[in-house]
Amino acid sequence: MIEANEGLVRDVVEQVLEQVRTGWGGRVAPTVGASAAPTLTAGSRAAPAVTGAVGANRFGQFTDVNQAVQAAAKAQAQLMTRSLAQRKIACDLIRRICIDQADRLGAMEFEETRIGRPEHKGEKLVLAGEQSLGVEFLRSNVFSGDHGLTVEEFAPWGVVAVITPVTHSLPTLASNAISIIAAGNSIVCNPHPGGAKIACHGAKLFNQAIYEKLGIDNLLSILTAPTLETAGAMFGHPDIRLLAITGGPGVVKAALASGKRAICAGPGNPPVVVDASADIDNAARCIIEGAAFDNNLLCLAEKEVFVEAAVWDKLHAAMKAHSAFELSAQQINALADKVIAGPTDGHLHARREFVGKGAADLAAAIGVRVPPNTELLFGPTGPDHPFVQAEQMMSCLPFVKADGFEQAVAMAKQAEHGFRHTAIIHSRLVDHMTYMGKQMDTCLYVKNGPSMAGDGVGGEGYCSYSIACTTGEGVTTPLTYTRMRRCVMVDNLRII
Ligand code: NAD
Repeated sequence: MIEANEGLVRDVVEQVLEQVRTGWGGRVAPTVGASAAPTLTAGSRAAPAVTGAVGANRFGQFTDVNQAVQAAAKAQAQLMTRSLAQRKIACDLIRRICIDQADRLGAMEFEETRIGRPEHKGEKLVLAGEQSLGVEFLRSNVFSGDHGLTVEEFAPWGVVAVITPVTHSLPTLASNAISIIAAGNSIVCNPHPGGAKIACHGAKLFNQAIYEKLGIDNLLSILTAPTLETAGAMFGHPDIRLLAITGGPGVVKAALASGKRAICAGPGNPPVVVDASADIDNAARCIIEGAAFDNNLLCLAEKEVFVEAAVWDKLHAAMKAHSAFELSAQQINALADKVIAGPTDGHLHARREFVGKGAADLAAAIGVRVPPNTELLFGPTGPDHPFVQAEQMMSCLPFVKADGFEQAVAMAKQAEHGFRHTAIIHSRLVDHMTYMGKQMDTCLYVKNGPSMAGDGVGGEGYCSYSIACTTGEGVTTPLTYTRMRRCVMVDNLRII
């Protein structure tokens, strides 16, 4: 009750300030519903946003789920009255902020989460800004024949509930937002509490820019004090019909139990197989590049390596030549005792305090000093070792020796736990590539490159921060957040 009153007072004050700021002071701002919102030509300056009682000029910041959903619903209704060109403007504003402010926002994300590598936080935002798919990816299907003309168009769902992980808080929100808004939706986000400050700050910047240009506020509404309860309230809200989930097994389970349509970018545990035919130097370079990026926080990053015995020594030498540090079996066992916990929900997992830690910190945890340029730790284990079975998300990879290629693939398949997320092979044999691809049945399958090549970074294709391996949509695009509608003209409109 108190909060509702505070919200109302804030809305009134903000309306007055906005009217003064935009030169509307003393005049009554027209009360315009969504249907009467101004139609703008692309790039033109919008009239000031039309403010209502709920969520006016909040720039997306909410503590109450219901208010957040109402404000996002209003914003979405406004968006639907605008042109595709204006949707693109909204997406481009998000892109620009991610690119232009990458260093500052990346530093803020690191400051808050203290996981991963500071220098990679900005890179991830640039990637989100440059490569997330937007309006240009939308399309329609047309069927033209004796019985006339049928058009299938991809329509928005309305308000999409978004869950973001702590591993890439703002990059996931930004990348999701670009694709979800491009598809004509608005967003309500329950960010991971550990990355909520940066997500809320980013959402505020995005909303401010969109409001200033297009006069729509709260296109991205966000819960500033997210909890499991606010996530649950979002999942159960009657005005939300689509959930976009990025996270581990717990949230995926909760979303799928909601009874709503859920696009789930769930966990992975990507194995690498290096066979005897591989270019070993390239394999070592790629494994380090993929696994050490942001201290292995990416869900698609190399998590364990199965090596044919014939190239075991050669691969070890190449790893060391490329700034990886080899732990002994005793040392990697000692590290596992410190950093891996569980099982919980049937899976071993990394202890929170070690997620996203670098090689030097991990080594220090077991009293080992490594050279300052060390990118990654690696060490010998068996296939059932906790480092193999857990999605460890830190800069240490277990290496498992296999008698032959088929055994390596069998162990890789077991370690992937049926998540069907990502698998990587280093080989020159097409038969081996094909065999492993069929066996693994993963959403991403990378051959002779670092894992991120599977997400369009250094490989062909496009990029998203949400790879919906769990529910099968794959690398998400604007079309992922649409529903198909068909419009049929019978026996007419075909002009040939
Ligand atoms: P996490 O599962 O701890 O949290 C993810 C999000 O889910 C957070 O916002 C959290 O608050 C929320 N959450 C957790 N349990 C919930 C529940 N029961 N109900 C409602 N919300 C709940 O994961 P994390 O540590 O933030 O991120 C790492 C995990 O996410 C890894 O498993 C990684 O593989 C996965 N991930 C997957 C992708 C992908 O594209 N497939 C991308 C990034 C991360």
